[in-house]
Amino acid sequence: MLLWLLILHTGYSQTITPNKKVIVITTDGLRWEDVFNGLDTAILNKKAFQHADSTATAINFGGTTSEERRKKLMPFFWSTIVEKGQIHGNRNKGSFVDNSNPYWFSYPGYSEILTGQVDTAVNSNEYKPNPNTNFFEYLNTLPFYKNKVIAFGAWDAFKRILNEKRSGFPVINGNHVDSALPKDPQMKLLASLIEESYQPFGKDETLDVFIKYQSLHYLKTKKPNAMYISFGETDELAHAGNYPEYLKAANRFDAFLKEIYNFINTDPEYKGKTVILITTDHGRGDLIKSQWTSHGQKVKDSHQIWYAMLGSGVDSLGEITINEQVFQKELIHKVAKIINVSFESIKSK
Ligand SMILES: [Zn+2]
Repeated sequence: MLLWLLILHTGYSQTITPNKKVIVITTDGLRWEDVFNGLDTAILNKKAFQHADSTATAINFGGTTSEERRKKLMPFFWSTIVEKGQIHGNRNKGSFVDNSNPYWFSYPGYSEILTGQVDTAVNSNEYKPNPNTNFFEYLNTLPFYKNKVIAFGAWDAFKRILNEKRSGFPVINGNHVDSALPKDPQMKLLASLIEESYQPFGKDETLDVFIKYQSLHYLKTKKPNAMYISFGETDELAHAGNYPEYLKAANRFDAFLKEIYNFINTDPEYKGKTVILITTDHGRGDLIKSQWTSHGQKVKDSHQIWYAMLGSGVDSLGEITINEQVFQKELIHKVAKIINVSFESIKSK
């Protein structure tokens, strides 16, 4: 009777109640060129982009073929994800993934991912709290996800991008420590480290390692049903022109994915019930045509991105080698489809 009333009331019937867990993970400005081809020797060989341990990096991530190099750089991507999930964006093989927004920098990119549409008014990293509702905010209105939604961002802007005040779920940001963190005996030391350590990217962005341990701990102890995690070092180190450290950040990101997946794959609450989307906010240039260190409208091709999916309901397609054109704003709707919900962002005043 109640269900019937619900159908009458909402005008549509939802035969399957959403009950899949959702994890979206991003790393800022990681180039598709490096994801699919691994270490770029031409960049590494330029003196300007070499740093103290360039040689060691070359040995760690070097190889004669793209396949060999990318597997060294991102071993989890090119073993588990390629076997069990799907990886899109290798333009050399016909898979095109792009920003739909015309700006090719962070706030517009994250807004496009998380709201599943483009608002061209969102045109600055300093933009006000996002007037567009996001996917996680929508999930937080559904019974299965209610008060089981969380976001962790290395960069301070996520409180605005996800409009924490309006959206009603916690957004743990940058160098700030979640007030609950020091109260947890296991996390007390981490809270002190965040507060007391050197902040190489300034007060607005923390090291990925702090986001890693906070989010993993939260996942294992609080068991959220929807979670967003954002890493930032790949962008910071590329802007700094430090190719070896940029590669090492990509390698650590991959290791983090492995850790998340290993937990999900062994925990009965998550195993077989979780869908994971992995992507980036924007691309970068390359060595020949523009600047690999930078991005934005003035940097040719920096709208070129990639994404991967893994988990329950995700077809094992591996590396996509058929012709396709996917836009960033479509990604969250692919997740929505798998968990059997329909989301549309609404613009508030
Ligand atoms: Zn950037």
